[in-house]
Amino acid sequence: MVGNGCAFCRIVARESPAEIEYEDDEILAFKDLYPKAPVHLLIIPKRHIESLARLEPGDETVAGHCVRVARLLAERAGYGERGYRLSCNTGPEGGQVVYHLHFHLTAGHLTAGRRG
Ligand code: AMP
Ligand code: ZN
Repeated sequence: MVGNGCAFCRIVARESPAEIEYEDDEILAFKDLYPKAPVHLLIIPKRHIESLARLEPGDETVAGHCVRVARLLAERAGYGERGYRLSCNTGPEGGQVVYHLHFHLTAGHLTAGRRG
């Protein structure tokens, strides 16, 4: 859903509140409402793209830009060298709930996926 039907389009349009941490012409990053780690940001393209599974030719630019901004935000939060996780739930069995492409940037006290 686009526009009023999409929770993240409403944040982009400033029709819903969010704690915005970064913005440029293409991208917005804001705090996850229900953080699952000490740092938990969502990085989204402003333009409505449903999911990774709906990327069209040309969308890789904005997707790559999200990854670069994640690095910037991780460094800004002090986790550039310590490490962080960037994840993107995709589709119903991938755990996606909000169908506006978003990357989760999480850092601090991460345990899942650790080796040993
Ligand atoms: P998912 O679609 O499963 O990758 O995750 C959606 C994420 O969006 C969850 O971590 C929610 O806590 C978060 N979320 C949902 N609505 C909002 C909102 N209005 N502002 C900030 N985060 C939100
Ligand atoms: Zn949207």
